[in-house]
Amino acid sequence: MIDGLARDEVRVLKSYPETALPCRIKMDANENEWGLPQQVKEALIKDVLDFPFHRYPDSDGAALKGKLEEYTGVPAKNLIIGNGSDELIRYVVDAFVSPGDKVVIPTPAFSMYRFFVDLAGGVVVEVEPEQGLRVDTQKVARTAKRENAKLVFLCSPNNPTGEVIRVEDIEMVIQKSPGIVVVDEAYYEFCGRTVIDRVNSYPNLVVLRTLSKAAALAGLRVGYLAAGDDIMNYLYRVKVPYNVGSFSQMAAMRVLENRRAMDQWLDTFRSVRDEFIEDLRRVEGVTVFPTGANFVLLGIDRAHRVWKGLLKRGILVRKFGQGPLENCLRVTVCPPRQNRAFLEGLKEVLGEVYT
Ligand code: PMP
Repeated sequence: MIDGLARDEVRVLKSYPETALPCRIKMDANENEWGLPQQVKEALIKDVLDFPFHRYPDSDGAALKGKLEEYTGVPAKNLIIGNGSDELIRYVVDAFVSPGDKVVIPTPAFSMYRFFVDLAGGVVVEVEPEQGLRVDTQKVARTAKRENAKLVFLCSPNNPTGEVIRVEDIEMVIQKSPGIVVVDEAYYEFCGRTVIDRVNSYPNLVVLRTLSKAAALAGLRVGYLAAGDDIMNYLYRVKVPYNVGSFSQMAAMRVLENRRAMDQWLDTFRSVRDEFIEDLRRVEGVTVFPTGANFVLLGIDRAHRVWKGLLKRGILVRKFGQGPLENCLRVTVCPPRQNRAFLEGLKEVLGEVYT
């Protein structure tokens, strides 16, 4: 009986795959394995005692948006905070996609774009990548025009490939698209390239960011979105009140107040990433895709067997289903000790799988 009551769009969906497999070294979810800087944790310990836990949060996040204005250069009135950027993807789709509307998504892409579009009854138009799994921005722009797409999703650095799309190419897509272009910059801090400063130049631009990655706050679910006044006006109509908890807002503020700690850590991170990538390039039988993010995509024959072998050794990485990424694994860059354990484990597993 309940099956007959469910919406058609929901009946065909599957629930999000289990991600919490037990492991010793977690390299599957692009989290920041260094964790929060000590001084941020200490500031939060002090905050806890007098914290007004009994009160609802500031629904608009005014204080946090003030800090985000300083961090991004975008006026607070052009920012909205979300329960992770996942929630903000949903707001954009809820505000602009009606059943049957076309949404262009270059593949391979972060899965939540399609998830929310499917849920809304929108029609996803996929754009195949160029050689090397790079986003074909010319084709994205042509497709958006041809399909009169309501939305286009771009992600830079792209999850899961790590590709940093050139700012000129992103701007070309924004200029040629008849609808809204969402540029997901979840991994911005790891490459430093952004279009967030253009949200008041292009009325059809939305930029998504998150504090789940470089800022190491994935557990507290804080994302933010930047867009011009007209888009903002519609997003506020679909926004859920009190969507970001007050302690999450406080922690986000503490991270932004300690921005120097994050910047210093990013310097360390980049040299660790460079070294890890150099080591990976020396592993025979592995193709290393260029990355501007905190993860790296590896091309490996019989990737599913390699994935299993790694898991047996307690190392969890991300595998993919059938399709262009079938023979790929995505690996989060971790502190050096974990990266070395991964390299050792990988070499052992490759020896087993290929003999
Ligand atoms: N966009 C991209 C490209 C991501 O990889 C992720 C997280 N995996 C998100 C958005 C969502 O991040 P969050 O909801 O934690 O802010």
